[in-house]
Amino acid sequence: MAREQVIGPAPGDDGQKKVDAALRPKLLKEVVGQRKVAERLEIAVRASKKLNEPLGHIIFDGPPGLGKTTFATVLPNELGTSIQMTSGPALAKPADLLPFLTNLEEGSILFIDEIHRMPRVVEEFIYPAMEDFRLDIVLGEGMSARTINYQLKRFTLIGATTRSGMLSGPMRDRFKMHEHLEFYSVEELATIVRVNAAKLATPITDGAAHEIARRSRGTPRVANARLHWARNYAAALHDGAITEEVAHAALDKAEVDADGLDKNDRRYLETLIDVFGGGPTGVEALAATMNLAADTLSDEIEPYLLREQFIVRSPRGRIVTPRAYPVLGKATPPKPRPEGPTLFE
Ligand code: ADP
Repeated sequence: MAREQVIGPAPGDDGQKKVDAALRPKLLKEVVGQRKVAERLEIAVRASKKLNEPLGHIIFDGPPGLGKTTFATVLPNELGTSIQMTSGPALAKPADLLPFLTNLEEGSILFIDEIHRMPRVVEEFIYPAMEDFRLDIVLGEGMSARTINYQLKRFTLIGATTRSGMLSGPMRDRFKMHEHLEFYSVEELATIVRVNAAKLATPITDGAAHEIARRSRGTPRVANARLHWARNYAAALHDGAITEEVAHAALDKAEVDADGLDKNDRRYLETLIDVFGGGPTGVEALAATMNLAADTLSDEIEPYLLREQFIVRSPRGRIVTPRAYPVLGKATPPKPRPEGPTLFE
């Protein structure tokens, strides 16, 4: 298995990350769903081994919790190499990248999470490393400044981003593979829940796995968190096994509704309807009213609401759709009358 080196702050250190790490698949064949992405990566891995070349640089994009880090950590296992992990916000200046770049082994992987948050100076510093495995280090200033070139081991950069639109053109062009991760089907999530329940040595029925899957917003990380909660609920109040009934009660207790929407999702829809009359409203105004960061709304809450068409995006802002009303126990408002006098007035 790959050695995982973390230098500097790891990309997120909270409890959920620990659960994620424990449950993360180790090999491509253990990865559930995203078949097309997995097949392309399998081809790339095979080619890399046959041609004795490092894997081309890869960028993964998609909403949080869909498996970007999972794919990145599976690849070194497949290649029999090591991985170093960092994140865009941890790389404030070019010097922050040096320990990672100089620690590289031939063919090893450098993973940068939230790569769109890397400052431009760091981005420019990494270009020659990506293209020619070379660093240009400027020593001194003004007239006496000189550049020395430092040859690096051939490596693979894997970037992950929730905002591919925020990547600069030159950065995007330097990646050989661009892989977009999609939300998962209920069937795929149910498989993930069953596999992970087994890893946690928790008995679970098929019906319960589906119940958790249906209420997990199409997202494996959410499924892991819901499974964890259902497991605690089963252990505390029942005999430890997750039956459909136990899963149902556990998720009701966590205020996750039948569509999988949680408190924040419902607050978002409620704010949009009750405060802004259903929209259109800019994300900044919504975020300020909800007392949350605009990034949290657009990265974590909106992608699923958009996919399930509870909201739509327009040039003037977010608009709620009629689908959202029953979810909140509200009557769908009548269609607005066309403006201006009608034939009968
Ligand atoms: P991201 O990096 O996109 O935010 P992660 O790769 O950290 O998401 O995924 C969160 C967790 O969800 C992982 O630890 C893993 O347990 C689970 N997971 C994600 N994708 C898959 C998958 N395709 N198959 C099985 N489990 C997955």
